[in-house]
Amino acid sequence: MSAEEAQIEAVTDGVKKLKFDDREHYNVVFIGHVDAGKSTLAGQILYITGMVDQRTIEKYEREAKEKNRESWFLAFIMDCGEDEREKGKTVEVGRAHFETEAHRYTILDAPGHRGYVPNMIGGASQADIGVLVISARKGEFEAGFDKGGQTREHATLAKTLGIDRLIIVINKMDEPTVKWAQERFDQIVKDLSQFLKGLGYDMKKNVQFIPIAGLTGVNIKDPLSPEICPWYKGHSLIQALDNIPSLNRKQEGALRVPIIDKYKDRGITVVLGKVESGTITKGQKVVLMPNRVTTEVVSLKCHEEEVEWCKPGENVSIYLKCDDEDIHSGHVLCNTENPCEPIQEFIGQFIVLDKNMLAPGYTAMMHIHTAIEHFKIKTIISKIDRKTGKPLPDKVFSAKSKDIIEARFEMERPICVEKFETLSAMGRFTVRESKTIGVGKVLKVKPLKSSIS
Ligand code: GDP
Repeated sequence: MSAEEAQIEAVTDGVKKLKFDDREHYNVVFIGHVDAGKSTLAGQILYITGMVDQRTIEKYEREAKEKNRESWFLAFIMDCGEDEREKGKTVEVGRAHFETEAHRYTILDAPGHRGYVPNMIGGASQADIGVLVISARKGEFEAGFDKGGQTREHATLAKTLGIDRLIIVINKMDEPTVKWAQERFDQIVKDLSQFLKGLGYDMKKNVQFIPIAGLTGVNIKDPLSPEICPWYKGHSLIQALDNIPSLNRKQEGALRVPIIDKYKDRGITVVLGKVESGTITKGQKVVLMPNRVTTEVVSLKCHEEEVEWCKPGENVSIYLKCDDEDIHSGHVLCNTENPCEPIQEFIGQFIVLDKNMLAPGYTAMMHIHTAIEHFKIKTIISKIDRKTGKPLPDKVFSAKSKDIIEARFEMERPICVEKFETLSAMGRFTVRESKTIGVGKVLKVKPLKSSIS
């Protein structure tokens, strides 16, 4: 039975009635240095899994040829904006859906350019699994991995944004400078393993390396044939994804949907987001925090299909019975019984990645779930011993790169967050100026008008 047939319960008068889909949904973010081949790979996956029809492919092939970028046609499937096609760059986070018999997936194709790291954070903060794309081509792996390349920054951010599962695809193995050479693959695995281990990845349990050629579609779905590469006996990329065990999602928890975007559909307010915990049902009364906009769910859509309810992990379009004026990205849709109370101050643990001097009074932008807000460090409470993870006794006046501190963060405006231990997706944050300054997690929150608990 095909993946689509598996979903159909009955067909009456040509109308398909869909079964509740038991297949778990995963958000997969593609990260890595610019030109590593992320968009090409994403396009190839959509092609191989039958999500793009032959006519669309031919159209993209024609378009790419007209622009003298023939080899880019697969990337065109992901890079939708005209602007991006002209430049051949991925700016916004592209989204696409594909499915197999085992799971349903949304691909988030994050931009690799330095200036677009905030978009990458946006993509990664919604992801369950990271696919780190590495170019094996001579010089390209080195450029991406050296200081200034995005491989390190993306992998670091992915880990701190809570992506514990990483599939590393060593791409462009078909390149004349590589020719599926095991030595090249092994060397890259060795260099990356050392680095990823240092970031705290569980290399045995949660990280795997797969050689591929995204452009020609080798080792994406079908396993590698020994004629192409006799030494690799592992899974193809899609086999590896299908074998990822179920994630423990908080279906019983309070409803939390951080809002990514909003728009109007035939006059009805629609918000987009990923259900991080709890379930959402058609007809349910909900409240958007921190503005306390109380409303009702008119209808729900998952990947363009109308659904009765949604569980955690799903990306959902929520049609609401209210005006959209007071709703913005970064707000959180909650159930009315126990909404996420707004805070303006919290205590967080913060790892300084790239700053010479950081002291109380420091201000920058904080990215936390889908919110981007100004904040100030009010006080530094203590420095944390890297070995024991415990606070050091000395008084602290400032911090610098590699320090881990506990500090009091003050937001310019009220926001909704959760403690990291309660709901990690809403309790980890990234601090940025024009570069990433550091990453952290929320330890204690202080709801407005109460003392810190
Ligand atoms: P992105 O910036 O990571 O999204 O990279 P793109 O997908 O746009 O690809 C960058 C360039 O690498 C394009 O010219 C692709 O055709 C090329 N490329 C991507 N995958 C492969 C591959 O598997 N083999 C070879 N030889 N080239 C590839």
